[in-house]
Amino acid sequence: MKLKIAIQKSGRLSEKSLQLLKECGIKLSAGGSGKLKTEAKNFPVEVLFLRDDDIPQYVEQGVADVGILGENEVWEKKKNVLTVEKLGFAGCRMSLAIPKDEEYTDLSFFNNKKVATSYPVILSDFFAKNHINVEIEEIGGSVEIAPGIGLADAIFDIVSTGSTLLMNGLKEVEVVVASEAVLISNKSLSDGKKAILDKLVFRIKAVLRASENKYITLNAPLSAVPEITRLLPGMKSPTIVPLAEKGWCGIHSVVKEDEFWDIIDKMKELGAEGILVIPIEKMVL
Ligand code: ATP
Ligand code: MG
Repeated sequence: MKLKIAIQKSGRLSEKSLQLLKECGIKLSAGGSGKLKTEAKNFPVEVLFLRDDDIPQYVEQGVADVGILGENEVWEKKKNVLTVEKLGFAGCRMSLAIPKDEEYTDLSFFNNKKVATSYPVILSDFFAKNHINVEIEEIGGSVEIAPGIGLADAIFDIVSTGSTLLMNGLKEVEVVVASEAVLISNKSLSDGKKAILDKLVFRIKAVLRASENKYITLNAPLSAVPEITRLLPGMKSPTIVPLAEKGWCGIHSVVKEDEFWDIIDKMKELGAEGILVIPIEKMVL
């Protein structure tokens, strides 16, 4: 039995999705760029290459058992699938933007306006919730040109840096929702497939945890050990090893990437020296 995983055939998610599977130790058989599916040699999965828009439907129908795609497509398609895990890549926001010279106060700006988007479901849910009456113009792509050609008064689209908006004379006025890549699953997997999925999710978690943490080693005066231990709790507690020099020890631990610089500053204040920070490849609790 194999778990069928759908990933994006070509686009912003493709490379990262393949990389995640690789980091989970899954070795895929080489396939040409036109290939629709491929198998793994060392793990019971089959990978299907599809358009991201189609993945929710295929997962709901069971054509694929699980899929990797942007949460935005999951919300837009409203298929009956399970979101299993956030994957921490392809982060973006979905925002409303208007011509940069227009004055913006609040959401009421959009009352009786026309908004162009490729995400009509997410947008109409948002305006309904906020009791704003808008006309939604659904278009397939290049949404940002809609105001410039007189098709709409505003747009709702994916933004990551905002440079596309700027280039088209638009400004972002409301962030509606933030999205990232997720792993979704069919709701009625067989027990055998569920077991494979559990194994996969276990590995994905170890990979994600590793990328959020760093291994840190440093030398510290023995007198600072209690305070350093408090600041560097590590996975259980830090490893403390004696140094040849009297009154000093080496400390090994794990720190969160986002707390890292604060912690380093405090370590230096406490007299720590020779601080090394090393990336972690996998982290299993
Ligand atoms: P497909 O041909 O598979 O339908 P697509 O053109 O719909 O591809 P891409 O542009 O490759 O999709 O984007 C895939 C996903 O990447 C988006 O749905 C979104 O979740 C995420 N993403 C992250 N940043 C951006 C961005 N700046 N613009 C568009 N999508 C982004
Ligand atoms: Mg698409």
